Amino acid sequence: MATSVVLQKVEKRYGSLDVIHGIDLTIDPGEFVVFVGPSGCGKSTLLRMIAGLEEITGGGLLLDNERMNEVAPAKRGIAMVFQSYALYPHMSVYKNLAFGLETAGYKKADIQPKVKRAAEILQIEKLLERKPKALSGGQRQRVAIGRAIVREPRIFLFDEPLSNLDAELRVQMRVEISRLHRQLGNTMIYVTHDQVEAMTMADKIVVLNSGRIEQVGAPLDLYNNPANRFVAGFIGSPK
Ligand code: ADP
Ligand code: MG
Repeated sequence: MATSVVLQKVEKRYGSLDVIHGIDLTIDPGEFVVFVGPSGCGKSTLLRMIAGLEEITGGGLLLDNERMNEVAPAKRGIAMVFQSYALYPHMSVYKNLAFGLETAGYKKADIQPKVKRAAEILQIEKLLERKPKALSGGQRQRVAIGRAIVREPRIFLFDEPLSNLDAELRVQMRVEISRLHRQLGNTMIYVTHDQVEAMTMADKIVVLNSGRIEQVGAPLDLYNNPANRFVAGFIGSPK
């Protein structure tokens, strides 16, 4: 069962700096939602608030209709994939995948099938004994995604996961992440400043600008009916 996400008038203030100004948004269970917008508009801040890595200073966050504002990150059932892979360099791929489960107290016998399944999904079964330095950029990014999969989260969050990869690999990983979504069926929220990624991957695009939503809609809706010049310019529609 996939999870719904609701933001109700969510605000964020860093000290005296207001960066998110009352965002209302509903994400349906199993949707692939892409947050797009220029650098500094608040995409990462929104993701971090959903993950519980950043305090929500106003409004409410609901997962499956349950208020999450005060729930610890580890108890939200969310896994996040970042742009920097942050793999442990001295550990094998297997260990990188298993480590989070070990520290969470899982038994070895329970960890092995979870790692095996994630490795199969990402087609990295043959790389399990390697160290990260013996992997290509794309393989490292797969391991980083694998670390999210082994935790069996209800929601996946991606913060510009492909921006360190070259153009060809970006296209390939885009296709793989879309396939992962179809295969797992989880709710996924994907942040990017790349319009092509947004247009090709999203069920629903959320266009952000200076901490506010400019428009929400399916890719073609935004392209054909941009609400304003900002959306038109950002999505690249002719208007
Ligand atoms: P994006 O991911 O869209 O580039 P961010 O969410 O990182 O945007 O940042 C939104 C705004 O909040 C920016 O003005 C940024 O400088 C500011 N900001 C982000 N993190 C912090 C922080 N920890 N402390 C103070 N200001 C921050
Ligand atoms: Mg960011």
